[in-house]
Amino acid sequence: MLNLHTSNVKKPISITNDPWEAYNDMRDHNRLTLSNIEFTTTNLCNMRCSHCAVGYTLQTTDPDPLPMDLIYRRLDEVTDLKTMSITGGEPMFSKKSIRNVVKPLLKYAFDRGIYVQMNSNLTLPLDRYLEIAEYIDVMHISHNWGTIDEFTEVGFGAMDKQPPLKAKLKLYDQMLLNASTLSDQGMFVSAETMLNQSTVPHMEKIHNEIVHDMKCQRHEIHPMYPADFASQLEVLSLKEMKTAIHHLLDIRDPDLWMLFGTLPIYPCINDEQDQALLQRLREAPNVTMRNDPDGRNRLNVNVFTGNVIVTDFGDENGTISNIKNDKLPDVFNQWLASPLAQSLNCHCSAFNCLGPNVLVKNMYYPQTNFKEQERKMHQIYTMS
Ligand code: SF4
Repeated sequence: MLNLHTSNVKKPISITNDPWEAYNDMRDHNRLTLSNIEFTTTNLCNMRCSHCAVGYTLQTTDPDPLPMDLIYRRLDEVTDLKTMSITGGEPMFSKKSIRNVVKPLLKYAFDRGIYVQMNSNLTLPLDRYLEIAEYIDVMHISHNWGTIDEFTEVGFGAMDKQPPLKAKLKLYDQMLLNASTLSDQGMFVSAETMLNQSTVPHMEKIHNEIVHDMKCQRHEIHPMYPADFASQLEVLSLKEMKTAIHHLLDIRDPDLWMLFGTLPIYPCINDEQDQALLQRLREAPNVTMRNDPDGRNRLNVNVFTGNVIVTDFGDENGTISNIKNDKLPDVFNQWLASPLAQSLNCHCSAFNCLGPNVLVKNMYYPQTNFKEQERKMHQIYTMS
């Protein structure tokens, strides 16, 4: 068994303890608070998924990272830091990056009692993951593969020179085996599936694979929002999305924790079916809904450039600062004061709701004024 000594210090992750939920900070501090830093630690990956947020910017060598002393200092300044996410590329691909950046960050988090999530494709040899297992609270893996062809095509869709089919298939098997072995040994492995036109027809197969073959502790469901023109074609209409969620609730294994993140369905939307679905989600056993952390409690830092982005809003909003010049809490406060954040950040305490992010609003509610919705909700429910 793994020596998971982090769990001795931190409260175990469960449906009642999701440290990545931005609403925790509302409860603790009565305001949005910077408590989550995501680090992009490498531009390298053995895959090139078409939908990867960084798939088209991946490189063949990493530049030198910023000095760790600067990164530690910037983290020390985040006094309310509770969670850290490590992403790439594939964070466990480059041994140099693991040695110089990933492990030092993991040790820093461990010493401060901070929860750590790693976003990995889990296709590398198992030893690499076992080596850092004791420092990981959540191993997060994307599973959007309804068919093996989907994996071999979309999983390498952004790669110029395609690997042989046999090599691709081997990675798929490795991914399944790694997930189940790490789960068996006590790691919290959470698989995320995007809701889009490709995954929805195969949701039952994907869910069953996550439960039985990968033995994950959690299945995360996030709608896919269009980050570029190509992905527009795959996005679901609101109606399709709601049907897909109902279907998932029908077919799921009720013993597995299902986390629905960034759903485009809100208590203030005057639609009976929306409200019925929200109620179904609230009442379903082992189901949670999570507010989007991006810009609510999280910033992303690139360890090479020092650039800071509001994660998924990167495309919309670009780089908002650089840790060479600025402290992260100052950057976060400037972001919160920006007209874009001000126009989006609503809060209804009766529903623990923090409103939509910019991608959700633009996609599904371009005409809705959520600040006005907030005002009406506060009148109805007499919230502060
Ligand atoms: S927080 Fe915003 S989106 Fe959520 S119910 Fe209130 S007004 Fe609607």
